[in-house]
Amino acid sequence: MTTATESALTPAAVSPLHRLHTLLMPDYNRQATVYWWAVVLLGVAVIVYSMIRVTALPAAAWAQMAVGMFVAMLAGMFPVRIPRSKNSFAAGEVFIFLLMLLLGPAAATLAAGGEAMVGAFRTSKRWTSRIASPAMAALSMFVSGSLLQALLDTMQRMALTNAGLLVAATMVFSLVYFMFNTLLVTAVPRLKRNEPLQVSDLLGIFGWVGIAFAGSAAVAALLYLTFRQSGIGVLVAVVPIIGMLLATLHYYYRQQEAHEVVREAAAKAAGREALAAANAAEREAQAAAKAAEREAEVAARHLQELAASERRFHSAFTHASIGMALLSFEGRILQANAALRTLLGADGGMLLRRNFQDFVCEGDLEALCEQLARVNDLEFDAFELELRCHRHDGGEVWVAVHCSFFSEPDSTVPCLILQVQDISARRKAESGLHQLAFNDALTGLPNRRRFHEHLTQAVERAKIEPQRRFAVMFLDFDRFKLINDGLGHSAGDEFLIQVSHRIQAKLRPHDTVARLGGDEFAILMQQFEDEREVIVLADRLQQALREPFHVADTELSTSASIGITSSNIGYRTPEDVLRDADIAMYKAKSSGKARYALFDVALHAEVAQRLRLEGDLRRALAEGQLAVAYQPLYELASGRLSGFEALARWTHPADGVVGPDRFIPIAEESGLIVQLTDFVLHRACHQLKEWQLMDPVFGALTMQVNVSGRDLDQKGLVARVTHAIVEARLQPQHLILELTENILMDRLESALPVMVELRALGIGLSVDDFGTGYSSLAHLSSLPIDSLKVDRSFVRSLRAGSKESMVIRAIVHLGNALGKGVVAEGIETASQFDQLREMGCRLGQGFFMSRPLAPTAVEMLLEQTLAMGIRGTGRAALELPAQLH
Ligand code: C2E
Ligand code: CA
Ligand code: CA
Repeated sequence: MTTATESALTPAAVSPLHRLHTLLMPDYNRQATVYWWAVVLLGVAVIVYSMIRVTALPAAAWAQMAVGMFVAMLAGMFPVRIPRSKNSFAAGEVFIFLLMLLLGPAAATLAAGGEAMVGAFRTSKRWTSRIASPAMAALSMFVSGSLLQALLDTMQRMALTNAGLLVAATMVFSLVYFMFNTLLVTAVPRLKRNEPLQVSDLLGIFGWVGIAFAGSAAVAALLYLTFRQSGIGVLVAVVPIIGMLLATLHYYYRQQEAHEVVREAAAKAAGREALAAANAAEREAQAAAKAAEREAEVAARHLQELAASERRFHSAFTHASIGMALLSFEGRILQANAALRTLLGADGGMLLRRNFQDFVCEGDLEALCEQLARVNDLEFDAFELELRCHRHDGGEVWVAVHCSFFSEPDSTVPCLILQVQDISARRKAESGLHQLAFNDALTGLPNRRRFHEHLTQAVERAKIEPQRRFAVMFLDFDRFKLINDGLGHSAGDEFLIQVSHRIQAKLRPHDTVARLGGDEFAILMQQFEDEREVIVLADRLQQALREPFHVADTELSTSASIGITSSNIGYRTPEDVLRDADIAMYKAKSSGKARYALFDVALHAEVAQRLRLEGDLRRALAEGQLAVAYQPLYELASGRLSGFEALARWTHPADGVVGPDRFIPIAEESGLIVQLTDFVLHRACHQLKEWQLMDPVFGALTMQVNVSGRDLDQKGLVARVTHAIVEARLQPQHLILELTENILMDRLESALPVMVELRALGIGLSVDDFGTGYSSLAHLSSLPIDSLKVDRSFVRSLRAGSKESMVIRAIVHLGNALGKGVVAEGIETASQFDQLREMGCRLGQGFFMSRPLAPTAVEMLLEQTLAMGIRGTGRAALELPAQLH
């Protein structure tokens, strides 16, 4: 408690006198101050009185007094410490008592005051002590000396001159003196603390100190008796011997004391450490250690300082804002402060004699007991832990505990000091952060990171125990984008929340569902016996998700594609698991949505191969590894060459020829198709132009180029096509774009304006693979198309009277009626050729007439056609190219 805070707390009482008081005697309350002044004034009074009394003494007595006082004060500088105690006595007492016997109480009073002053100057820096100590000693000596004087006078009057009686009386007197002095000294700290005076304070008199005083008194009495018999000579001889003896004792004990001080300082240091968290408490411990050194020499001073130190320690302990307790090494609570009681919501009685462990939650108990045991085994003297405690009201509180070895000032039994700080708020914030970091904010489900953690554990477990199988499902909604774009993001969010509930409802307790992002969910199925269990769950999920959702006043129906993989594959990393589940999910999607697909090794190989090919194709496009083959188209009636279909060809540097059936889907999926179409378009247009220029008879030849769905999605298709024909200086009517029936029907709305525009430019449009896409025939009349290309599956099974032949006949009729030409592809036999011609099919292509040809082969074909006359029979025109293969 500093002066500053005290004065700040009592601003009303600030008078100059008060300010002086708080400056000089900060720790003195009113009663202590009154007492101090009373004792000092009385002390001064007896000293003044004694001085007056001694002036009346003869000169010889003066010399005796001067020598006695000098020796007493000198001895006061070399106190003898009582072994194994904190008390000491100054040998000067012998001479003071001698002066008492020789010259009476006045001289002894002055000597006692002088000796006490020397002692006080040596042991204390506080002027209050330096003044009060001599005053108290003088007062004590005056009172006890006067009593002895009265006793001796009485004894003389009664003629009791027995030497033994004198010695005994002197000894009693010395004890009275010491007791009186002790009483005066200890009263100061007691008053400061508002405590009653205690008899126990005086008990020290019956210990070593009392014996020392009584001994000194006995020596003084004996010296006095000797002096009385033999004169001053004996004293002159004996005093130096006694002096030497005492000096030897002084130094011997000092050495012992030094050892003790070191030991004590070590113990105090441990105490200091224990209080590291509370600064105030540390200061107390330091003060206690310092005080101990000083107290070693003056008993009274020691008592006073010790009491103050203890008081300050207890005050720091009691008023500390963090919970503190003194524990036995077993954890029993010996003492607890108010903050700890508040923290645990318990009153004092509940804590005392209980084990601190009783308040610790079970999960954290082991860690605490372990640490306590280690302190007990002296492995270390402090530890820190964070643990959960039960509150008395049933709640739980997170605390940081610091526990260390502690020896209380003046206590021989070491114990533990525990500091307990409430960290619930911090822990709560941390768990909030954890929740944010590991959970999806929208659905509250675990997020990708958390899922990854779970999966990592499952993978690691399965490595060690393969029988503990797990499966992972990847869910993707087939129409989420539509919901999000069509109804807005908040509807999308609502949908996802409902989805998460439905999924959770179908899972077993130990399965985990996580939202990985967007509309992607993943499920970790822990422990299953049979793969069928996984399939059953996938089915159940699909059923549940097919039920309509009610979002933003709209009834939505959707479906999910599910990819499944399991630990049967023998995974090493969680990434591999996720990748394969993802692959299986794409497989499910591409094979028609709203299904599930199981991952297997073949699928993995397929995907890997596909990925590799995609990279290779990208490179092939950049490096010009692709080529175009041209399959001739003929007028079936005349056998006349009418044009070509451009077909992309790829010769892979390592794998050789890769068929379009493989690389076109890859190009479509990866978006490379746009580049590929441009390449074929430019190359074919140039080629046709070149061939048209060979001879005017080829001027009407056409070029059919395949266009994919992705091309139509691209805004710039019209521009790209225009660019190609302008660059090749081709007339638009010589270019015919083929769109498959499926593409057309899938995106009729977006395709229609593009088709209208292309048509307006004069470019021809043909429906490829006609008959496979179930297009409504009603649509056909309104579509801006020039021709229908009957799918080759119909041509292949073409026999007279077969169902296929009827279909083709119907298509031809329809085409003719709508003014759209019908083309047949895949004509492999003369019979097919003849039938189609007979049906009225205008154009045809197929291996029967010609395979797709390299440009040089086309040139030879054209040259031969020229040589034979382009108007020759169809047969004649066909024979040669057939021989080319
Ligand atoms: P498609 O458009 O139906 O092309 C006709 C396919 O029929 C070609 O296969 C051709 O070689 C084949 N073919 C021709 N005559 C016969 C025959 O008598 N019998 C049999 N069995 N087949 C015959 P190809 O060249 O393998 O092309 C396959 C598919 O790849 C094409 O079917 C087309 O959809 C796609 N494709 C090829 N090149 C391109 C291209 O440059 N762009 C786009 N988008 N797709 C292309
Ligand atoms: Ca085609
Ligand atoms: Ca076709």
